[in-house]
Amino acid sequence: MSISLINFCIKIQKLTIFLLTYDKNNVIFMNMNNIQKLAQAIKSHERIVFFGGAGVSTESGVPDFRSADGIFNNNESAETLLSYSYFKLNPTRFMEFYRTKLFFPDVKPNFAHNYLAKLEKAEKLHAVITQNVDGLHQKAGSGNVIELHGTAHKCFCDLCKEAQPAVVVNEFVNPAELPFCKCGGVIRPAIIMYEEPLDPDVTGRAIRAIAEADMLIIAGTSLRVYPAASYIGYFTGNCLAVINREAIAAKADIVIEGSVGETFKKINIILRERGF
Ligand SMILES: [Zn+2]
Repeated sequence: MSISLINFCIKIQKLTIFLLTYDKNNVIFMNMNNIQKLAQAIKSHERIVFFGGAGVSTESGVPDFRSADGIFNNNESAETLLSYSYFKLNPTRFMEFYRTKLFFPDVKPNFAHNYLAKLEKAEKLHAVITQNVDGLHQKAGSGNVIELHGTAHKCFCDLCKEAQPAVVVNEFVNPAELPFCKCGGVIRPAIIMYEEPLDPDVTGRAIRAIAEADMLIIAGTSLRVYPAASYIGYFTGNCLAVINREAIAAKADIVIEGSVGETFKKINIILRERGF
Protein backbone atom coordinates (compact mmCIF):
# COMPACT_ATOMS: atom_id res chain seq x y z
CA MET A 1 0.00 0.00 0.00
CA SER A 2 1.37 3.41 -0.90
CA ILE A 3 2.09 6.04 1.77
CA SER A 4 -0.62 8.35 0.39
CA LEU A 5 -3.19 5.56 0.56
CA ILE A 6 -2.21 4.81 4.18
CA ASN A 7 -2.50 8.52 5.02
CA PHE A 8 -5.87 8.62 3.33
CA CYS A 9 -7.04 5.61 5.38
CA ILE A 10 -5.86 7.24 8.61
CA LYS A 11 -7.77 10.42 7.72
CA ILE A 12 -10.93 8.40 7.01
CA GLN A 13 -10.51 6.59 10.35
CA LYS A 14 -10.12 9.92 12.21
CA LEU A 15 -13.16 11.35 10.42
CA THR A 16 -15.17 8.25 11.37
CA ILE A 17 -14.24 8.60 15.04
CA PHE A 18 -15.08 12.32 14.86
CA LEU A 19 -18.50 11.66 13.33
CA LEU A 20 -19.32 8.77 15.64
CA THR A 21 -18.40 10.77 18.70
CA TYR A 22 -20.28 13.94 17.70
CA ASP A 23 -23.14 14.41 20.11
CA LYS A 24 -25.91 16.37 18.44
CA ASN A 25 -27.75 16.74 21.74
CA ASN A 26 -24.94 18.79 23.20
CA VAL A 27 -24.67 22.36 22.01
CA ILE A 28 -20.93 22.09 22.26
CA PHE A 29 -18.87 19.00 21.64
CA MET A 30 -18.08 16.89 24.65
CA ASN A 31 -14.45 17.48 25.40
CA MET A 32 -12.88 14.84 23.17
CA ASN A 33 -9.49 15.28 24.79
CA ASN A 34 -10.97 14.16 28.08
CA ILE A 35 -12.89 11.31 26.46
CA GLN A 36 -9.63 10.13 24.87
CA LYS A 37 -7.90 10.46 28.25
CA LEU A 38 -10.64 8.43 29.95
CA ALA A 39 -10.46 5.73 27.26
CA GLN A 40 -6.69 5.50 27.69
CA ALA A 41 -7.02 5.37 31.47
CA ILE A 42 -9.56 2.52 31.28
CA LYS A 43 -7.22 0.67 28.95
CA SER A 44 -4.21 1.07 31.24
CA HIS A 45 -5.85 0.30 34.61
CA GLU A 46 -6.65 -3.15 35.95
CA ARG A 47 -8.66 -2.56 39.10
CA ILE A 48 -11.29 0.00 38.28
CA VAL A 49 -14.17 0.80 40.60
CA PHE A 50 -17.30 2.56 39.34
CA PHE A 51 -19.31 4.68 41.78
CA GLY A 52 -22.68 5.58 40.28
CA GLY A 53 -25.64 7.68 41.27
CA ALA A 54 -29.13 8.46 39.99
CA GLY A 55 -27.79 9.83 36.68
CA VAL A 56 -26.82 6.30 35.63
CA SER A 57 -30.44 5.12 35.93
CA THR A 58 -32.23 8.22 34.61
CA GLU A 59 -30.90 7.28 31.17
CA SER A 60 -32.92 4.06 31.47
CA GLY A 61 -36.01 6.12 32.21
CA VAL A 62 -35.91 5.89 36.01
CA PRO A 63 -36.74 9.40 37.23
CA ASP A 64 -34.48 10.93 39.86
CA PHE A 65 -36.92 11.43 42.71
CA ARG A 66 -34.54 13.91 44.36
CA SER A 67 -34.22 16.41 41.53
CA ALA A 68 -36.42 18.73 39.45
CA ASP A 69 -39.99 18.11 40.61
CA GLY A 70 -38.74 16.75 43.90
CA ILE A 71 -41.68 18.14 45.89
CA PHE A 72 -44.80 16.05 45.97
CA ASN A 73 -48.34 16.30 47.34
CA ASN A 74 -48.90 18.43 50.44
CA ASN A 75 -45.47 20.00 49.94
CA GLU A 76 -43.83 16.83 51.20
CA SER A 77 -40.33 16.25 49.91
CA ALA A 78 -39.04 12.88 48.73
CA GLU A 79 -36.78 12.87 51.79
CA THR A 80 -39.84 13.13 54.05
CA LEU A 81 -41.89 10.56 52.15
CA LEU A 82 -39.04 8.06 52.16
CA SER A 83 -38.10 8.48 55.80
CA TYR A 84 -38.52 5.73 58.36
CA SER A 85 -40.65 7.89 60.66
CA TYR A 86 -43.01 8.64 57.76
CA PHE A 87 -43.21 4.92 56.95
CA LYS A 88 -44.11 4.15 60.58
CA LEU A 89 -46.71 6.95 60.79
CA ASN A 90 -48.21 6.56 57.34
CA PRO A 91 -47.20 3.26 55.76
CA THR A 92 -49.99 3.42 53.16
CA ARG A 93 -48.82 6.76 51.78
CA PHE A 94 -45.19 5.60 51.95
CA MET A 95 -45.99 2.47 49.96
CA GLU A 96 -47.94 4.43 47.37
CA PHE A 97 -45.04 6.84 46.87
CA TYR A 98 -42.55 3.98 46.72
CA ARG A 99 -44.54 1.99 44.17
CA THR A 100 -45.28 4.94 41.89
CA LYS A 101 -42.03 6.93 42.14
CA LEU A 102 -39.31 4.48 43.05
CA PHE A 103 -40.15 1.04 41.76
CA PHE A 104 -39.99 0.46 38.01
CA PRO A 105 -39.93 -3.26 37.30
CA ASP A 106 -39.91 -2.91 33.51
CA VAL A 107 -36.92 -0.61 33.02
CA LYS A 108 -33.96 -2.02 31.14
CA PRO A 109 -30.23 -1.49 31.54
CA ASN A 110 -28.77 1.18 29.27
CA PHE A 111 -25.42 1.31 27.50
CA ALA A 112 -23.57 2.36 30.66
CA HIS A 113 -24.84 -0.67 32.64
CA ASN A 114 -24.01 -3.02 29.75
CA TYR A 115 -20.55 -1.56 29.16
CA LEU A 116 -19.66 -1.83 32.86
CA ALA A 117 -20.69 -5.50 32.82
CA LYS A 118 -18.41 -5.97 29.82
CA LEU A 119 -15.52 -4.27 31.64
CA GLU A 120 -16.03 -6.62 34.59
CA LYS A 121 -15.92 -9.68 32.32
CA ALA A 122 -12.70 -8.33 30.78
CA GLU A 123 -11.32 -8.25 34.37
CA LYS A 124 -10.80 -4.50 34.29
CA LEU A 125 -13.66 -3.47 36.54
CA HIS A 126 -13.49 -4.78 40.08
CA ALA A 127 -16.74 -3.43 41.54
CA VAL A 128 -19.77 -1.28 40.91
CA ILE A 129 -20.90 0.77 43.90
CA THR A 130 -24.35 2.23 43.36
CA GLN A 131 -26.72 4.56 45.15
CA ASN A 132 -29.59 3.20 43.04
CA VAL A 133 -32.01 0.50 44.18
CA ASP A 134 -33.28 -0.64 40.75
CA GLY A 135 -31.00 -3.64 40.22
CA LEU A 136 -30.13 -2.57 36.66
CA HIS A 137 -26.41 -3.42 37.03
CA GLN A 138 -27.28 -7.01 37.93
CA LYS A 139 -29.78 -7.14 35.05
CA ALA A 140 -26.95 -6.09 32.73
CA GLY A 141 -24.77 -8.93 34.04
CA SER A 142 -22.50 -7.25 36.60
CA GLY A 143 -21.52 -9.64 39.40
CA ASN A 144 -19.89 -7.51 42.07
CA VAL A 145 -22.49 -4.81 42.75
CA ILE A 146 -22.46 -3.00 46.07
CA GLU A 147 -25.85 -1.40 46.71
CA LEU A 148 -25.35 1.33 49.29
CA HIS A 149 -29.04 2.16 49.58
CA GLY A 150 -30.38 -1.38 49.42
CA THR A 151 -32.58 -2.86 46.71
CA ALA A 152 -36.15 -2.68 45.50
CA HIS A 153 -35.88 -6.33 44.48
CA LYS A 154 -36.00 -7.72 48.01
CA CYS A 155 -38.21 -7.08 50.99
CA PHE A 156 -38.63 -8.08 54.61
CA CYS A 157 -41.00 -7.68 57.52
CA ASP A 158 -40.34 -4.46 59.42
CA LEU A 159 -41.31 -6.15 62.70
CA CYS A 160 -39.82 -9.67 62.73
CA LYS A 161 -37.26 -8.87 59.93
CA GLU A 162 -38.05 -12.11 58.08
CA ALA A 163 -37.13 -11.96 54.38
CA GLN A 164 -40.13 -12.14 52.03
CA PRO A 165 -40.40 -12.59 48.28
CA ALA A 166 -40.15 -9.18 46.59
CA VAL A 167 -43.48 -9.67 44.83
CA VAL A 168 -45.21 -9.36 48.19
CA VAL A 169 -44.45 -5.64 48.17
CA ASN A 170 -44.34 -4.98 44.47
CA GLU A 171 -47.28 -6.76 42.89
CA PHE A 172 -50.27 -4.78 44.11
CA VAL A 173 -52.61 -3.22 41.56
CA ASN A 174 -53.63 -0.62 44.10
CA PRO A 175 -50.33 1.04 45.01
CA ALA A 176 -51.62 2.11 48.41
CA GLU A 177 -52.45 -1.45 49.51
CA LEU A 178 -50.38 -2.65 52.46
CA PRO A 179 -48.68 -6.05 52.56
CA PHE A 180 -48.65 -7.72 55.99
CA CYS A 181 -46.47 -10.47 57.43
CA LYS A 182 -48.07 -13.35 59.32
CA CYS A 183 -46.67 -11.77 62.51
CA GLY A 184 -48.72 -8.64 61.85
CA GLY A 185 -45.80 -6.42 60.81
CA VAL A 186 -45.77 -4.43 57.57
CA ILE A 187 -43.62 -5.94 54.82
CA ARG A 188 -41.35 -3.28 53.39
CA PRO A 189 -38.89 -2.97 50.52
CA ALA A 190 -35.24 -3.62 51.40
CA ILE A 191 -34.24 -0.06 50.56
CA ILE A 192 -32.46 2.11 53.09
CA MET A 193 -34.94 4.78 54.10
CA TYR A 194 -33.93 8.25 55.19
CA GLU A 195 -33.14 8.22 58.96
CA GLU A 196 -31.96 4.59 58.70
CA PRO A 197 -28.27 3.77 58.97
CA LEU A 198 -26.52 2.20 56.01
CA ASP A 199 -25.64 -1.49 56.39
CA PRO A 200 -22.11 -1.59 57.86
CA ASP A 201 -21.24 -4.76 55.90
CA VAL A 202 -22.17 -3.04 52.66
CA THR A 203 -20.36 0.20 53.45
CA GLY A 204 -17.31 -1.83 54.54
CA ARG A 205 -17.28 -3.59 51.16
CA ALA A 206 -17.63 -0.25 49.35
CA ILE A 207 -14.79 1.38 51.29
CA ARG A 208 -12.54 -1.67 50.77
CA ALA A 209 -13.26 -1.70 47.03
CA ILE A 210 -12.44 2.02 46.73
CA ALA A 211 -9.30 1.68 48.86
CA GLU A 212 -8.03 -1.19 46.67
CA ALA A 213 -8.88 0.46 43.33
CA ASP A 214 -6.25 1.82 40.98
CA MET A 215 -8.86 3.93 39.16
CA LEU A 216 -12.17 5.34 40.36
CA ILE A 217 -14.95 6.52 38.05
CA ILE A 218 -17.68 8.58 39.72
CA ALA A 219 -20.70 9.02 37.49
CA GLY A 220 -24.21 10.39 37.49
CA THR A 221 -24.10 11.78 40.99
CA SER A 222 -23.75 15.21 42.47
CA LEU A 223 -22.08 13.56 45.48
CA ARG A 224 -24.46 15.42 47.75
CA VAL A 225 -25.64 12.28 49.54
CA TYR A 226 -23.56 11.59 52.62
CA PRO A 227 -21.94 9.49 53.91
CA ALA A 228 -21.51 7.91 50.48
CA ALA A 229 -19.83 11.02 49.15
CA SER A 230 -17.17 10.90 51.83
CA TYR A 231 -15.99 7.42 50.73
CA ILE A 232 -14.07 9.06 47.91
CA GLY A 233 -11.51 10.04 50.55
CA TYR A 234 -10.44 6.37 50.79
CA PHE A 235 -9.26 6.33 47.20
CA THR A 236 -5.47 6.15 46.85
CA GLY A 237 -5.19 5.12 43.18
CA ASN A 238 -3.79 7.36 40.50
CA CYS A 239 -6.80 8.22 38.34
CA LEU A 240 -10.05 9.75 39.52
CA ALA A 241 -12.56 10.39 36.74
CA VAL A 242 -15.93 12.13 36.99
CA ILE A 243 -18.76 11.90 34.45
CA ASN A 244 -21.80 14.03 35.21
CA ARG A 245 -24.24 16.25 33.37
CA GLU A 246 -23.59 19.15 35.72
CA ALA A 247 -20.21 20.13 37.05
CA ILE A 248 -19.58 18.74 40.52
CA ALA A 249 -17.13 19.84 43.12
CA ALA A 250 -14.62 17.01 43.17
CA LYS A 251 -10.91 17.10 42.61
CA ALA A 252 -10.51 14.81 39.63
CA ASP A 253 -7.91 13.92 37.01
CA ILE A 254 -10.53 13.70 34.27
CA VAL A 255 -13.86 15.55 34.28
CA ILE A 256 -16.49 14.94 31.60
CA GLU A 257 -19.67 16.99 31.63
CA GLY A 258 -22.19 14.88 29.78
CA SER A 259 -24.34 11.79 29.75
CA VAL A 260 -22.85 8.62 31.26
CA GLY A 261 -24.22 6.34 28.53
CA GLU A 262 -23.07 8.63 25.71
CA THR A 263 -19.62 8.89 27.25
CA PHE A 264 -19.28 5.10 27.42
CA LYS A 265 -20.50 4.80 23.81
CA LYS A 266 -17.62 7.06 22.76
CA ILE A 267 -15.16 5.18 24.97
CA ASN A 268 -16.34 1.92 23.38
CA ILE A 269 -15.70 3.28 19.89
CA ILE A 270 -12.25 4.56 20.78
CA LEU A 271 -11.20 1.37 22.57
CA ARG A 272 -12.55 -0.85 19.80
CA GLU A 273 -10.25 1.02 17.43
CA ARG A 274 -7.43 0.02 19.77
CA GLY A 275 -8.45 -3.62 19.78
CA PHE A 276 -10.25 -3.71 23.13
ZN1 LIG B 1 -43.07 -10.49 60.48
